[in-house]
Amino acid sequence: MNPKIASYLRDHAPATPCLVLDVDRVEQNYSRLKAAMPLARVYYAVKANPAAPILDRLSGLGSSFDAASWEEIQACLEAGARAADISFGNTVKKESAIKAAFAAGVTMFAFDSEPELRKLARSAPGARVYCRILVENKGAEWPLSRKFGCEAAMAKELMVKAAAWGLDPYGISFHVGSQQTQTGAYEAAIARVAMIFTDLKDAGINLRMVNLGGGYPVRYRAEVPEIDAFGDAIMGAMTEHFGNALPEMVIEPGRFMVGDAGVVSSEVVLVSRKAEDDPVRWVYLDIGRFGGLAETEGESIRYEFRTPYDGAAEGPVTIAGPTCDSTDTLYEKSNYRLPMALDAGDQVQLLSTGAYVTTYASQAFNGFRPLAEHYI
Ligand SMILES: *Cc1c(COP(=O)(O)O)cnc(C)c1O
Repeated sequence: MNPKIASYLRDHAPATPCLVLDVDRVEQNYSRLKAAMPLARVYYAVKANPAAPILDRLSGLGSSFDAASWEEIQACLEAGARAADISFGNTVKKESAIKAAFAAGVTMFAFDSEPELRKLARSAPGARVYCRILVENKGAEWPLSRKFGCEAAMAKELMVKAAAWGLDPYGISFHVGSQQTQTGAYEAAIARVAMIFTDLKDAGINLRMVNLGGGYPVRYRAEVPEIDAFGDAIMGAMTEHFGNALPEMVIEPGRFMVGDAGVVSSEVVLVSRKAEDDPVRWVYLDIGRFGGLAETEGESIRYEFRTPYDGAAEGPVTIAGPTCDSTDTLYEKSNYRLPMALDAGDQVQLLSTGAYVTTYASQAFNGFRPLAEHYI
């Protein structure tokens, strides 16, 4: 537990459920990333946590930004980011949003299909465009499936079209899946990108940028490789495949930048059993799937808990949220155990909840207000 957050919770006793996030920790994470991958430009993936104090701090540090909507672009501009340092990274954009971004000075856009490329040619003429390719998401605890990206053969054809249509064929991007626990996922993806670079060079198109996306993991219940291991694997693969003609490198960390900077504080609403002799207790919290813990879907992201009784005797639990929806059960199969002493009214903390929590909270399902946020 981060000591700064622990003393904030002790001194201010904020109403639950709430997120308390240490913005200094975000700065440390930015520095760790820069140290692990000094040649890469960092584009913070705004969707992980778009709070103004985070964008302000990162903008001040010289970070660039990966935005998925015109609204996120506006938030970056308000935080002092230059339009030239914002990438419109969503491959599915309204043309009105493309127009607004281009008018504001954004010149870097993602796409993964011909119809999207047409929109860019019409509404962002001359812009730098990069094509997202499909890559293996094995090893990712929150995979992105086939929703984004296209096959390599299509990417090549589209880059040739981009040049013919007056756009600047800038580079290739991929995303190995979020909470990626295997460094080899990046190595395999880089090999694929390098082949596209070579083939396009033969076709007279010189790409200049590799966008390695996000995916860098946060420690939840289980250990994950350190960020330096990802940096080493990525630089090793880049050097192997591109030699000393290294292209510009972009990374788009979301979870890694903010995940371990935040803690959710929650109150236990009820501890009960389904039968007197049932060893499993049900622990209902005042935050659940609809309060922002969307990534507990499929028990994919397994948060670590702190309680007032850590170290005392524990027993098996099912952990659920407060709403009257049966999908609002967080963990039933992941072998969670919590102290036997835990009871209604106790406060528990969910660690490393700074990413992908606040913006997932529903408006007022069952009347519950969205998660309160404290940036310290
Ligand atoms: C969500 C997203 C990211 C951030 O991914 P993390 O796994 O949180 O690092 C980066 N790039 C794009 C295009 C994204 O959609």
